[in-house]
Amino acid sequence: MNHGGEQTPLGDVATLVDGGEMDCGSGLLLLITRAMRRLDDGQLLGVRSAESSVVTDLPIWAELVGHEVSADVAETPDGPWWFAVRKAGGSEATSTVFSQGDRTPVGHRLWAYTNFDCNLACLYCCAESSPKANSRRLEVEVAREAFAEFASLGGRELLLTGGEPFMHPGLGGLLDAAEGLERTVLTNAMIFSRGARRQMLEDTDRSVIMQVSLDSATPELHDRQRGAGSWERALSGIGLARSLGFRVRVAATMYDEDPVGVEALHHRLDDEGIATEDRVIRPVAHEGFADGGVHVSIDTLEPEPTITADGAWWHPVAVTNPNMRIADSPVPVSEVFGVVRDTLAAQDAATRAGREVFRCA
Ligand code: SF4
Repeated sequence: MNHGGEQTPLGDVATLVDGGEMDCGSGLLLLITRAMRRLDDGQLLGVRSAESSVVTDLPIWAELVGHEVSADVAETPDGPWWFAVRKAGGSEATSTVFSQGDRTPVGHRLWAYTNFDCNLACLYCCAESSPKANSRRLEVEVAREAFAEFASLGGRELLLTGGEPFMHPGLGGLLDAAEGLERTVLTNAMIFSRGARRQMLEDTDRSVIMQVSLDSATPELHDRQRGAGSWERALSGIGLARSLGFRVRVAATMYDEDPVGVEALHHRLDDEGIATEDRVIRPVAHEGFADGGVHVSIDTLEPEPTITADGAWWHPVAVTNPNMRIADSPVPVSEVFGVVRDTLAAQDAATRAGREVFRCA
C-alpha cells in the first residue's frame, strides 16, 4: 500500500490496494477497510483485483457502508479489474467500545502474542509454534505503549499467549506493563518449575490468571496431541501454580476423539480443585499445524483483536492466516480496533440488508 498518490487506469487515486486474488471474504475487505480509515473524506481509493467475485461484491460493500464506486474498468474481459472508491464522510465506526447484540464489545479485550517459540510442537498448534520457530518476541517497550493505549481506550482484559510465554525472558516486564488490566497468561505449565523461570513465576503478581492446556483426563490423547510426557508435566505445573496462590484456568482442545471422554476430564479437574467456571473446552481451528477442525474466516469468527510483534490480527487462532491480518504493526491499537469495528459495521449492514459480501473462495 502506498500513501503518496497513485496512478491507475482510472486516473489518480490517493492510495492503491492491490488485492491480488483475494475475495472480499478472504481478507480483501480488511485491506480496504484499513486503507479507507487513512483517507480523508472524499478521497479516492484505487482497488485492483484479479478475483471475479469482487466485481459483484465490492459495489455491494461500498453501498452498504456509504462509499461510492465512482469508476471501474477491466484490463481484459477476464480481469484484472480496477475500481476507484470515493470515501464517504462519517463512514467510520468511531465509538470507543462498540457493542452489537451478544458480541463481546470490541475494545474490552486484547490478545497479545508474547513470542512464537515453544518447548512443544502440538499437532493442532494454530500459531505453528515449536522449539525451532522464530521467536518474534514482543518487546517490552512496544507492549508498554500498546497496553497503555488499550487501557486509555477503555480496555479491561489482556490475554498473553504464544508460543510459550515463559520462554520470553521479559515476560515479567510485559505483565508489569499491563498492570491495572485483568491479565491472563496462557501457558503449557511445563517449564516454570525450576531456575530463572521458577523465579519469574514466583515474582508474578497473584492477580494474574494462569490458563493451562490439559486435553484429557489421562495422558493418552494429550500426549499424542502435545508430546510424550507433556500430560504429566502439565498436571504438575497446574499443581505448582495453584500451590503458589495463582488462579488456574484449564483449557482442553478437542482434536482427536478422547478415548476417556469429557466427563472423565471434569472429574479429574474436580480432583485438582479447578473451579467449574475455570474450565474451557474448545474445538480446534483449521489453522496453523492443524490438518482438520473448524474452518474460520472473518465472517464466521467473532473478532478477538490480537497483536503480535509484527502486526495485528482478527483473532488469536488466525495469526498464521494472511487473510485475517488487520495491521502491519501492533500499534496504534486504536487502528486495530477501528478496522474491526468498521468491518463489523459492514457485516451488520449486510445482515440487515440480507446481502452477501463476505463470500469465501
Ligand atoms: S499449542 Fe501451545 S503449547 Fe502447543 S506448540 Fe502451540 S503454543 Fe506451544
